[in-house]
Amino acid sequence: MANISLSSDLSAFRFPHRHLLGIDGLSPEDITLLLDLADAYVAQNRQRDKKSDVLRGRTVINLFFENSTRTQTSFELAGKRLGGDVLNMSVSSSSIKKGETLIDTAMTLNAMHPDVLIVRHPDAGAVQLLSEKVNASVINAGDGRHEHPTQALLDALTIKRRKGHLDHLTVAISGDILHSRVARSNIQLLNLMGARVRVVAPLTLLPADIDRLGVEVHHDMREGLTGCDIVMMLRLQTERMKGMFVPSIREYFHFFGLDREKLSYAKPDALVMHPGPMNRGVEIDSELADDIDRSVIREQVEMGVAVRMACLDVLTRSDAINPSDDL
Ligand code: ASP
Repeated sequence: MANISLSSDLSAFRFPHRHLLGIDGLSPEDITLLLDLADAYVAQNRQRDKKSDVLRGRTVINLFFENSTRTQTSFELAGKRLGGDVLNMSVSSSSIKKGETLIDTAMTLNAMHPDVLIVRHPDAGAVQLLSEKVNASVINAGDGRHEHPTQALLDALTIKRRKGHLDHLTVAISGDILHSRVARSNIQLLNLMGARVRVVAPLTLLPADIDRLGVEVHHDMREGLTGCDIVMMLRLQTERMKGMFVPSIREYFHFFGLDREKLSYAKPDALVMHPGPMNRGVEIDSELADDIDRSVIREQVEMGVAVRMACLDVLTRSDAINPSDDL
């Protein structure tokens, strides 16, 4: 077992939510607790013996109605490193008829007494619906264009470890904001923690309610990146597009793809991030994505495991369960 005792250091903290369905509803204190705990798990994950028994006797089910590489694997690893029993259920979204089928699935799983259900679903709101039907704690691993809270938490941990803080940083989120749950969760978290958020995208890739999200909007990359500390690039999510949202991929890269010339408008020590999967040569120059002096894309993956361990940990502490205080 890993020679690290997290629970004693953090026993004074209490996570007052039964589920983690979004950043919406979390307080800055909740976020700080999760990031501090995750930071300790980064250290545990770098040891030779990575295993602890925080989740011993607990059952975690990964229920993914949409494909995933990073998120599903890192939740699986997180659950196993904490000593839990982890089961992966991959459901092809095409075989799912929403509504009754989703609830049927939830009830079937509920009967097996899992402690945590980690759910990804193509429809916004589906994870919340499922959480209302089961006894387990539910973690949203991405629901449609709505939220992807653990991605925003892992991005925040990556930034905080590199820059020392989140407040007063200027973060430019660039690309397909319209279809991105990553953007929505990040905008909320960064605003809550005192960062300044800019979004940079063509008009066709911005949601209609962008003015209500508390961000500065830019349509020109050089303008949007000027003086920023962090450049977060997003994938063109063609699987969510009906028809074309950009004239051509070549033109998109020319105007909105991140390359060294456009990055030169940001601060000299600005970091480049991407949640993955990356479309090299579409939203980001391939060589820049691999430049370890500028890009923290691989570090984001490492932080993902630690953040998911922290989320599983806080949700399975017995005093976290308070059904009247669902998030
Ligand atoms: N992996 C992220 C998500 O699940 C981002 C992406 O797919 O582009 O939303």
